Amino acid sequence: MAEIPTAAISRLVTYLRILEQLETQDVSRTSSSDLAERAGVSAFQVRKDLAYFGRFGTRGMGYTVPVLKRELVRVLGLNQTWNVVIVGMGRLGQAIANYPGASDYQFQYAGLFDVSPSIVGQQIRNLTVRHMDDLKAFVAENKVDMGFLAVPPDRAQDAAQMLVDAGIRGILNFAPVVIQSSPEVGAQEISDEWRGVIVENVDFLAGMKRLAFYILNPHLKDAPLTEDTE
Ligand code: NAD
Repeated sequence: MAEIPTAAISRLVTYLRILEQLETQDVSRTSSSDLAERAGVSAFQVRKDLAYFGRFGTRGMGYTVPVLKRELVRVLGLNQTWNVVIVGMGRLGQAIANYPGASDYQFQYAGLFDVSPSIVGQQIRNLTVRHMDDLKAFVAENKVDMGFLAVPPDRAQDAAQMLVDAGIRGILNFAPVVIQSSPEVGAQEISDEWRGVIVENVDFLAGMKRLAFYILNPHLKDAPLTEDTE
């Protein structure tokens, strides 16, 4: 498969959301120009993004909404169950655990972890918050695919290391720090246990800063990709 830009994957998620909306409105067909308009990109961009993964439409006929939706769900791996642990059950961790949207797809919270005696043992939704000391044994006994990291910034690297030591290969990091995959100072090589670990960062404060910049400099925002700019 050709190398695929991260932004293309983000746009696939957007296209999927649009297809879900179209489906709830009983719209059965769409086109690259319709998807493009709704996503705020060019039709060329839509075709290019989808072409990384195969041919989903019929030339001149556009796409069947449920078929394209099913294909995007498959491409994104959303047709399988993903078991998640949340590490750090403070304000953000609790908000995430209480937000019902994750279960629209097959993301399931399997375990909640913290270190604070005032939080460990609390019941949040149908789960009891466990102590971090129990993480490794929990992951050994339960299939866990991802860890969400919602600890204070100065605890994030150590908590990420505990996730990786427990065998978790995917981390969604909410802490505003760069998680190092070769934590020893000066190390060039990725340490063995970090090989193949994927870290995705989520940061709404970074979004606010980008927004402030683009409000002040609207002309610097990327122009939509067209065949001419390729
Ligand atoms: P908080 O202080 O309310 O909660 C942090 C929790 O982490 C506490 O319950 C604490 O006991 C626990 N904790 C500390 N060390 C731990 C460890 N080693 N293992 C497990 N749990 C541990 O903080 P918050 O407001 O929920 O913020 C959490 C993190 O999320 C911070 O890093 C914050 O900067 C970040 N944040 C990110 C976004 C975003 O958009 N990405 C938004 C808000 C907050």
